[in-house]
Order: sequence, then structure tokens, then C-alpha cells
Amino acid sequence: MKDTNKHQGLRNQLVKLLSQKGITDKNVLEAINKIPRHLFLESGFEDFAYQDKPFPIGAGQTISQPYTVAFQTELLQVKKDDKILEIGTGSGYQTAVLCVMGAKVYSVERQNELFKKTSTLLPKMGIRPKHLSFGDGYKGLPNYAPFDSIIVTAGAPFIPQPLMAQLKIGGRLVIPVGEDVQVMTLLIRKTETQFEKHELGDFRFVPLLEDKN
Ligand code: SAH
Repeated sequence: MKDTNKHQGLRNQLVKLLSQKGITDKNVLEAINKIPRHLFLESGFEDFAYQDKPFPIGAGQTISQPYTVAFQTELLQVKKDDKILEIGTGSGYQTAVLCVMGAKVYSVERQNELFKKTSTLLPKMGIRPKHLSFGDGYKGLPNYAPFDSIIVTAGAPFIPQPLMAQLKIGGRLVIPVGEDVQVMTLLIRKTETQFEKHELGDFRFVPLLEDKN
């Protein structure tokens, strides 16, 4: 598959839609404008890649809706060279958005099939995360901690304690919390022991599952 002018035109429209929906971070919009989302979808869905919708990516998982990717990324307040942990690599689209924004990305995926697929896809597109890992994101990546921010891209029944522990002071954890419907939750680590919590509306994600598969 290639990236064409037609795809770029569709991306321009998608970015316009995302700003109408309230996304203001220019770096987020620029990254979405650059990344060929159609290359992250299974071939049958190529034509739908620039609609603001989630889609199947194999192993019963979905690539998040562009608005959700933009909303979560904006909450991270990404700065160049930030060290970011992502839980739920999936298709690698969110990973790519963070890399294009200049972050050093560490990402964990519990489905081996997706881990392998994405590990070959991203470098082919010239996108180089610092570290892709096959494992259980509930545990975070203690060997690489602490992180400037952490993003969880699956619905978590609760906030895993190891993720809070792996955040720098001043760092931000963005995580959808809940069973059927998830509340987008932002935790900002104020001190060693204090976290400020913000709840930012309802979203729907595939579940964050324990162990790897
Ligand atoms: N960021 C992805 C979203 C994929 S959906 C994208 O842009 O495509 C969420 C992903 O989280 C799925 O791939 C799922 O397998 C993964 N996941 C679920 N539980 C997990 C866990 N405990 N650790 C790591 N990944 C997990």
C-alpha cells in the first residue's frame, strides 16, 4: 500500500474535523496529518481509514478512533524527547503519533500476533520507537522507569499501582477507567505520594486484560 495525494486530502479533512471537535494541540494535529493511518488497518478497511471511527486490527482488537487518539495525546502535553510509556501497542498508530511528536516511546502489547506485526510495520514506515515489548502492561516497564508520561489505550478496571509508581514527579498518566464504559482519567503526580486526579468524560475501549497471550 502507498500513501497518495488522495490519502493526504482525506487526512486534511480529518484534522479539520478533530479541531472542530475541540482538539487544539498543534503538534497533535500535525502528527495526525502526517501519519498514513490507512497503512495501519487491515486491507479491507483502507477506504474508511480517515473516518473518525475505530476499526478491527486482528486478534479481536481495534485501532482507536482518531478523536480518542488525539484527545489522549493532547492530555499528555507531549514535549520533544519526553520518555513515554504506552500500554497497548495494538496497530502501532498511537505509537507512531507519539514518535512523530519527538517522544521516546516505550510500548507494551500482550497479544503476540500484534506485537510481531507492529514490530515489523513501524520500522518499515521509518518510525522507530525506543522499545517495543511483548508482555503484561499492568506491570508497566520497571526496568525503563521512570517516565514523563504514561498512556493506556485499553479500558482498565482500576488504575494499576505499578504504573503510578513508574511516573516521574510532575508526570502525567492518561488512562480510561471502568468496565463497560470508561472514564478518561488524568493523574498528575505532584509528589512521591500525592496524585491530582481529573475525570474527562466517557469513552469505550477494548478491555485491559491481565497476562500475555
Ligand atoms: N494504541 C492502539 C490501541 C489498540 S487497542 C492502536 O493505536 O492501535 C488496545 C490494545 O491493548 C490491544 O492491542 C490489546 O491487545 C492491548 N492490551 C490489552 N490488555 C493489555 C495489557 N495488559 N498489556 C498490554 N497490552 C494490552
